[in-house]
Amino acid sequence: MKLYVLGLLMMSFTSQVSAAKPLVIAHRGAPGYLPEHTLESVTLAYSQGADFIEQDLVATKDSQLIVLHDIHLETVTNVEQVFPTRKRQDGRYYALDFTLAELKTLTVHERQDAKGNQVFPQRYQGNSSFHIATFEDQIELIQQLNRQFNKNIGLYPEIKSPAWHKEQGVDISQLVMAVLRKHNLDDANKNIYVQCFDFAETQRLRNDLGAKVKLIQLIAENDWLESPTDYDILKTPEGLSAIAKVAQGIGPWIPQLVDIKTMQPTGYVKQAHIAGLQVHPYTFRKDALPDNLDTQQTLQFLFNDLKIDGLFTDFTDTVVNYLPNQ
Ligand code: CA
Repeated sequence: MKLYVLGLLMMSFTSQVSAAKPLVIAHRGAPGYLPEHTLESVTLAYSQGADFIEQDLVATKDSQLIVLHDIHLETVTNVEQVFPTRKRQDGRYYALDFTLAELKTLTVHERQDAKGNQVFPQRYQGNSSFHIATFEDQIELIQQLNRQFNKNIGLYPEIKSPAWHKEQGVDISQLVMAVLRKHNLDDANKNIYVQCFDFAETQRLRNDLGAKVKLIQLIAENDWLESPTDYDILKTPEGLSAIAKVAQGIGPWIPQLVDIKTMQPTGYVKQAHIAGLQVHPYTFRKDALPDNLDTQQTLQFLFNDLKIDGLFTDFTDTVVNYLPNQ
């Protein structure tokens, strides 16, 4: 009798785990509609029903953390007009060369390519005055909205380019951990994941910096030169086991999960699940789908066939609307 009850309990536990609703992760806020990482973009993602909202973090000259996707400023701000002489020899403007007060004087615009053309031309086309936000600005905004709407929407910060910051004399992971601890967010039970592409840094966070927060190892391709990590190793079952020692999940690139031409799974999601890791791939963009797929087919394949546990998206509303119908 006892065994029978235990069996029932285990069955219900298992079905609860496998039926857990996948997480909708607002990639850089709501950049499908408003310039990425601005407070306006975060607010829109929040109101569209995201479960988590992402913050890419880079350091300023005065050791503050701002929310910015790149270590450079010119692709999303007017820095070249405001501070024309402050570029480095490579012609680029680095956030690390500016104080927070200086960065707050910049306006943020839609992401542009090297020629100054908007990367996603159908997205926001106005010239309103958007600004760079700090990590703490976004923590406060999300926590205040949570309090007022009685919700518990999570944070999903990414530590950007820790090896580059270190070369420049800045320990960005220490800065991030200090902010998390100040806000009581270095806690495995809080609604927050910290992500990083650099596997040595993910290991350092857990083993040397004593991070308690849930960690996600991002998976790139070696030829992107994203970090010193060898991603070919992290794609093997042995690599996944090594990740599982320090992290709760992986953030792979969607084409690492499926051959887009044949729609055959690569097996990486299954292997990650066997290793006990959650899988939160990036990035669903309904305005940049492969030619052979529409939104419905893409989301159905990711959630229903591959059984991913969460999805980074520029279009929170599209994914939120898809999920309850499954
Ligand atoms: Ca990111």
